[in-house]
Amino acid sequence: MVLLTNIPARNPGTLTGPGNNTWLLDGARPTLIDAGVGHPEHLDELARHLAGRPLALVLVTHAHPDHASGVPALRQRWPSVAVHKWPAADAPHLEPLHDGEQVSAGDALLKVIHTPGHAVDHVCFWEPQSRGLFCGDMMTATTTIMVPPAARGGSLSDYLASLKRLSALDPEVAWPGHGPVIGDPVGRVAEYLVHRAERERQVLACLDQGVTDLDGIVAMVYADTPRDLWPAARLTVEALLERLGRNVKRGSQ
Ligand SMILES: [Zn+2]
Repeated sequence: MVLLTNIPARNPGTLTGPGNNTWLLDGARPTLIDAGVGHPEHLDELARHLAGRPLALVLVTHAHPDHASGVPALRQRWPSVAVHKWPAADAPHLEPLHDGEQVSAGDALLKVIHTPGHAVDHVCFWEPQSRGLFCGDMMTATTTIMVPPAARGGSLSDYLASLKRLSALDPEVAWPGHGPVIGDPVGRVAEYLVHRAERERQVLACLDQGVTDLDGIVAMVYADTPRDLWPAARLTVEALLERLGRNVKRGSQ
């Protein structure tokens, strides 16, 4: 049984939906999964839950600012807090996580699962007692995940392999970085794999029809998607083309 509370990061936006979740795993070693963005109300709500105890640990799923930029504010509020993350050259002040490592968090023991794809430094945290997975940006209950091209730290091939690795754990529940709790993570992974295969077919159909510029492909494949999401879709198509080993014209952007 894990003592788990979602402390909303209070950063709603186009790409963050209602805003990020940060998960307080309470117990002997109060631990926050993901840092949020340092919003004062986020810190105040966290402090209310801690009721005078210090925050012991922050586990960061990856370096994207909506998950990691709140670290300095958390450190300012709780100076003794330890912050762990997958190693990256630009974050030397954080303690490095390793694949398969076990981390004491709350009253639980979490296993670190390196899951590159959405970001090269992305990790999930597996809680075997509840068969629960802190899945960061690997999946959400209601949206697909943006997988950027290699120039922005992404890899669609890695992302698909990471999804399969998570599914093989046979999780019963997943606590994501955005949106509601996922009650059937294995089913969700299966849906994602079908979705990615469908997108791949659509992009190949564009290429077959002679649509070979990135913006043209996005306009055809994402015709039903709101335009403010097209820049993210563009990155996802770029990642897909990298996976297919195809080069296209990049247009003006
Ligand atoms: Zn992210």
